[in-house]
Amino acid sequence: MRGRHAVAWLAGWIGLVLTGALVIVRVDIAERRDAFQTDARIAHRLLSQRAVQQEAVLATLALLHPTAEGADRPEQRLPAVYPQVLAVLRRDAEQAWPEETLREAETRSRRSGHAELGAVDVVRGHYTVLQAGTPSSFALRIDVQRMVPWDEWPVQKHGPVRVALLQGGQTLTIQPGELPGEQPVGLSRRSEAPVQLGSAGGSSSGLLYTASQVFRSGLTPGFVFAKTLAAPGQPFELQLRRATGPVQWPWAWLFAWASATALALAGAASWLEARRARRRAEALLRVGQVARLNAMGELAAGMAHELNQPLAAVMAGAQAARRLLDDEPPELATARQAIAQVVVQGRRAADVVARLRRQVEAPEAAAPTRPVQLEAVVRQVLELLEPEAQRRGVRAALHGRAAPVRADPVALEQIVHNLVGNALQALDQVPQAERRLDISLGTHAGHGVLTVRDSGPGIADEALSHLFEPFYTTKRGGLGLGLSLCDTLAQAMNGRLSAHHTEPRGAEFRLVLPLAEEAA
Ligand code: ADP
Repeated sequence: MRGRHAVAWLAGWIGLVLTGALVIVRVDIAERRDAFQTDARIAHRLLSQRAVQQEAVLATLALLHPTAEGADRPEQRLPAVYPQVLAVLRRDAEQAWPEETLREAETRSRRSGHAELGAVDVVRGHYTVLQAGTPSSFALRIDVQRMVPWDEWPVQKHGPVRVALLQGGQTLTIQPGELPGEQPVGLSRRSEAPVQLGSAGGSSSGLLYTASQVFRSGLTPGFVFAKTLAAPGQPFELQLRRATGPVQWPWAWLFAWASATALALAGAASWLEARRARRRAEALLRVGQVARLNAMGELAAGMAHELNQPLAAVMAGAQAARRLLDDEPPELATARQAIAQVVVQGRRAADVVARLRRQVEAPEAAAPTRPVQLEAVVRQVLELLEPEAQRRGVRAALHGRAAPVRADPVALEQIVHNLVGNALQALDQVPQAERRLDISLGTHAGHGVLTVRDSGPGIADEALSHLFEPFYTTKRGGLGLGLSLCDTLAQAMNGRLSAHHTEPRGAEFRLVLPLAEEAA
């Protein structure tokens, strides 16, 4: 059970960590994407401003076409003012452009009326922009890396973002950045063993990633920004790309989240465990209390049951004595006998109380036993129950003899009293002529045996198995405690009580007790 609990908690923790990690990573990526987009828009604005500025300079030159006087041409001072301008090219009326691309650009510029793009030098990172004019046309050779001063540049200089200007399939790299599968210019090939990902078969460089590339860049396209510069003569598409991979994830936050959830779950688990233990203890206590209450209730009911008989006899004896004394002349001898019976029954009640008290104080202590004459006890009980037997017209027959048994005489008397009393009550249910009560004594296998057999209705099969259970009764107003008490008392004396149905009709109860000399 504990193992299953641990696995469930672990699974719950992993689920929680993964869910939280997903949220954290997504939020982090969203934030970084926002920052990337903001930076990209700033870069676009700055580059567009520079491009527009360059076209304005060209337009001014073409309009003013400063006179060429010797070597001191004023436009040659421009590179000193604009760091991105590498050179200012000029074609006067009688000259021709040295390059074909410039000639074509001039034609286009004349047609469009604004500056046009000349040559793009991918290797050096230059391009030329040209403005046709009359009589002179001008062109500027621009170094893309210097278009925006680094201190104004929003993107980290040697960072992971790749920035480039794209035009007609040509790429002018402003900064290489770090992208998976693409080897930035100037860096040697990495030496890690390549890991092949994606669909099989492709051994071309595009499908080969090193493990560290995957970790650094992931497998997603990352962040991309693409927008054409807002200068008609330099229609470059500005492209910013940034690969994002696990290496950029907020690992500190992820670790903190995993630790916090582990701590919280460990706390919750131990709290639940403590609560479960507390509840179990409370339940045990409750059950114990109920059991105690039950035992006390049983004891009280048993006491009432056992005291009933002697108290009834005391009452009867006392009333008889009063009547006899009231007679004229008073029947002193008989009254004395009745009073003696009252004393005997009073002592019996006292014995019952003493035994019950012993049971409460030391329930597990065996009852004190001594050799007892079974026959004597049976005769005493028959004498006690004589009036009841007479009232029913029953004459009990006593057969056989038994050697002395080892027993608690009060308990033994209680058992016999119950058995004979039950038999008399059972006989109520058959016609008087058929009422028989046989009590036999005997010795069998080292035990004294007492059998009480009646010709009453007998015991139904389904009742047989419940007779000795407390509170099982079929009588109106019956307590159902007599036989269960007898059984307990018999066991306490190392004896055994059993019930049987007899043929053709009737019940038989057998009490077996160890013989006195055997047990000694
Ligand atoms: P109670 O007498 O209060 O019912 P007991 O424990 O003495 O309690 O008896 C339990 C039940 O056993 C009785 O209700 C009765 O059904 C059955 N029983 C006991 N003795 C006999 C008997 N001699 N013949 C038939 N049934 C009996």
